[in-house]
Amino acid sequence: LDKLAAASCQGVGQPVVAHLHAARYVALQQQHGESAMKLCVIAGDGIGQEVVPQAVRVLQSLLPALQTVTADAGWATFREQGTALPDATLAAARDCGAVLFGAVSSPARAVAGYRSPIGQLRRQLGCHANLRPTLSLPGCGLPGLDVLIVRENTEDLYVGEEHSDGDTATAVKRISRTASLRVAESAFALAAAGGRRRVTIVHKANIMPLTDGLFRDCAREVATRYPQLQVDEMLVDTAALKLAQAPQAFDVLLAPNLYGDILSDLAAAFGGGLGVAASLNLGQGVAIAEPVHGSAPDIAGQGVANPVASLLSLAMLLRHHWQLPAFATQLELAVQRTLAAGTRTPDLGGSASTAAFCDAVMAAL
Ligand code: ATP
Repeated sequence: LDKLAAASCQGVGQPVVAHLHAARYVALQQQHGESAMKLCVIAGDGIGQEVVPQAVRVLQSLLPALQTVTADAGWATFREQGTALPDATLAAARDCGAVLFGAVSSPARAVAGYRSPIGQLRRQLGCHANLRPTLSLPGCGLPGLDVLIVRENTEDLYVGEEHSDGDTATAVKRISRTASLRVAESAFALAAAGGRRRVTIVHKANIMPLTDGLFRDCAREVATRYPQLQVDEMLVDTAALKLAQAPQAFDVLLAPNLYGDILSDLAAAFGGGLGVAASLNLGQGVAIAEPVHGSAPDIAGQGVANPVASLLSLAMLLRHHWQLPAFATQLELAVQRTLAAGTRTPDLGGSASTAAFCDAVMAAL
């Protein structure tokens, strides 16, 4: 079936695709049961409300039997319900096992009781690794780019433990052996399965030998089980410089939470910007597809946000979570064909609306 899907991507024809869809569903549902094909849809705030429903429309044209469950989270939810991540949303996410999370706004100043819910959602669902690829797309960014950043997702400075006595403020940077080994295992396994050559471990162990040193040592330990992959390491400042000078020189970067967050935004700038930057949070049997961008209040409500980041995040969900690589390729190729044909949203110099872009992707499917 996967070979047929690959053939259909190469233009063998629509009848093949229609039969393939029907057959693949039956196979999937026999394999995993109903829950295999449920998606929890959390649009969130700002442009999340625009790109997410459109991306789901495209996914449903590819997977007509997909069940979707909508759930609330974010700043507007906090103002309406007093919590940014209602229990019902967590329950729906757990039940579905697969989530598309749009974006949430955060107020410029701390508001008592409010924290962006994405970190909590990742932790509650046990999504320990965040995959952030930067790929060359037709007419966007630099040619020849194929970098994958694997970011630890549950600890480091993001544990949110800050203290202040009014004069001195302190933040906890927590690095554990368990989380470091877990994310390293994901990075090396993905690199090996994806036919990649090299994994670069990013750290700052010269300044933080206990925390970053532990992360580096755990990654080195896992690397010994993957002799087919080259391994090197780089201080995070050097990695930023080299990424800015020659991003094509990198293959897979494995980094603790904060460095991975910063480096992946830097890499995204070379791949066409935030409008096309996709990500997937992976855990044990649960995954959250999440465009890298925020709620973009400057363009929210205009219907012009770029849905590519959401579409490519869904393609990652298809490939890595639902194990449907041929469908992932089909969606990726449809996005690429649409861009190559010159249909673009304004952030990429075009004039297409979010909906018009998705219409074109559906036609390309
Ligand atoms: P937030 O506070 O939610 O993080 P932000 O504006 O600070 O919002 P982003 O939402 O990531 O951060 O946006 C940064 C810039 O990139 C903005 O100018 C925004 O319009 C642009 N941008 C982000 N995502 C998209 C998109 N999908 N399509 C078009 N432009 C986008």
